Amino acid sequence: MAKCCGDKNSQINASGPLEWFGKMIQNCFEYATQAKAKGKHIVGIMCEYTPRELIMAADALPVCLCGGSAEMIGPAEEDLPANLCPLIKSTYGYHLEKANPFLEMADLIVAETTCDGKKKMYELMNQTRPMYVLELPQKPEDSDAMAHWISELRKLRTKLQEQFDVEVTDEKIKKAITVMNRERRLRRQLAELMKSKSPPLTGRQLLEFKSNISGICADLKQYEKAIKFFKSQKTGSSKDSPVRVLMTGVPIVHGSERVLDIIESHGGLVVCMDNCTGLKPILEDVDETIEDPIVALAEKYFRLPCSVMTKNDRRMDVLRKLFAEYRPQCIVELIWQACLTYDVESYLVKKLAAEELGIPYLRIETDYSPSDSARIALRIEALFETVIERAGQSD
Ligand code: SF4
Ligand code: SF4
Repeated sequence: MAKCCGDKNSQINASGPLEWFGKMIQNCFEYATQAKAKGKHIVGIMCEYTPRELIMAADALPVCLCGGSAEMIGPAEEDLPANLCPLIKSTYGYHLEKANPFLEMADLIVAETTCDGKKKMYELMNQTRPMYVLELPQKPEDSDAMAHWISELRKLRTKLQEQFDVEVTDEKIKKAITVMNRERRLRRQLAELMKSKSPPLTGRQLLEFKSNISGICADLKQYEKAIKFFKSQKTGSSKDSPVRVLMTGVPIVHGSERVLDIIESHGGLVVCMDNCTGLKPILEDVDETIEDPIVALAEKYFRLPCSVMTKNDRRMDVLRKLFAEYRPQCIVELIWQACLTYDVESYLVKKLAAEELGIPYLRIETDYSPSDSARIALRIEALFETVIERAGQSD
């Protein structure tokens, strides 16, 4: 088994994995504060295309800065248009208000050219904060796309070396890959528990099992504990089971779980999520047999099926695979307001659900405000009635 680190935080005792990850922000804050005091650098990231391994190999901590708070939207709208994705606005609101301690600790932000809203927001943030922007090729099938991405990752390595006056060796990158592969494997094993006819945890509980800082030894131990604990649970009868839901679409970052909560409080169980806060980033590992670790990282991260890519056929392949493995009875697609790429792509997901998978589909477009919760609940109830009716007919 890979040794991830020798930090003392691995000794922290939590009474249970759920309780441990329930305090995730506090845990990460303590971890980052201690690391910073010891001279480690903090690097903010805002997208799953950014390879955390490179940052870890620069002896720095990669911390996710994506905002999930509705309270940060108002301040952000002072500078940004109201008709913009709430994830972008919330992240920017934290920046303006200086309210995200991880952002305030960050020595560098690594951004990337994904959607237009994010790209332009980064420009404003960069007026006062150090930032490096990775250029993500938009056409993954082009013959020169991978070469371009590899060159971008090499440039990031150089930037990190210069910025932090540290050598980012192949050996260090390989070590970080091993840690991240272990983390991905553990999170995947937890997610796979949802394949059961009667899963031992809810979709919301599963969503809690992740950390804003990757590779923390104490977290990895808690993942192991959780897997052991949930595997030992006796599963209940599948009679009167909740409706199994596949959630797809935009990421559900910490604080923005409202739609998931509505689904699960109205008779549903989210058995899998293909988004960036769900399975998408952990479905595949980095190939540890590839000699050049930069090439290995490039290959793994470039295969992320995000709607900012054109075309993004791999997302449909992932949905087919998840449908076969997790047996959802319906698909709920979440679109953050003004997220054009996922919104346009929802046409293809709806078509897939209707014409190929043969299950009901519901598209929910919303933001972080709870003002439409009652309306969403009604639509979810109607969706579940359809599912139950169909199940009755096929009995
Ligand atoms: S959905 Fe796309 S842009 Fe957003 S975090 Fe994931 S990969 Fe990045
Ligand atoms: S949810 Fe959509 S609009 Fe918002 S940051 Fe992600 S890709 Fe961009």
